[in-house]
Amino acid sequence: MKIDVTELMNHRSNAIRFDYTFDPRHTDVECVELPSDVNIPDDGIRITGEAVDTLGCMMWKAHVSVSYRTACARCLDEIDAVLEFDMERMILTERLFGDDHLSDEDEWDGETEDVLYVNEARIIPDGDVIEEISLELPAFVLCSEDCPGLCPRCGKPLRDGDCGCKEEKQINPKFAILQKLLENQE
Ligand SMILES: [Zn+2]
Ligand SMILES: [Zn+2]
Repeated sequence: MKIDVTELMNHRSNAIRFDYTFDPRHTDVECVELPSDVNIPDDGIRITGEAVDTLGCMMWKAHVSVSYRTACARCLDEIDAVLEFDMERMILTERLFGDDHLSDEDEWDGETEDVLYVNEARIIPDGDVIEEISLELPAFVLCSEDCPGLCPRCGKPLRDGDCGCKEEKQINPKFAILQKLLENQE
């Protein structure tokens, strides 16, 4: 999504609101790949917020909400999950970057990754949003906190009840020794 910041740059407005959804597969910006087990529907990413001008400093501030489908890390059931976070970027025009104090490389603190550059009076935050999503996504998701997972023998979900596999209590010999030592201490 291209956000027109002309009004902001011309000081005709000090806030441009936006509220849109986008499909990461059909965006025209280059961006990082999201994990293949994360399925985001066409309108799964919603971005709301505003581009503001605060005393000559332009900022893009947004709340990102991602609805996605993934698999439970224990039982592999499909689950719908939601990821929400806030993000913000400084908006810089190249003119500002060239003429301002930032032109001196020594004074620039190098935090260019938190910057959106204006191109033809527009900013395109989608690549940054996808990168942030890839960082914010949890490493794994569970269908429920106490998901019992799958039977290690037959692979059936333990939640569905007795799968018929006998649970044999095999104690690793090393642990048996430990167990004895503990018992002797008591
Ligand atoms: Zn599960
Ligand atoms: Zn089983």
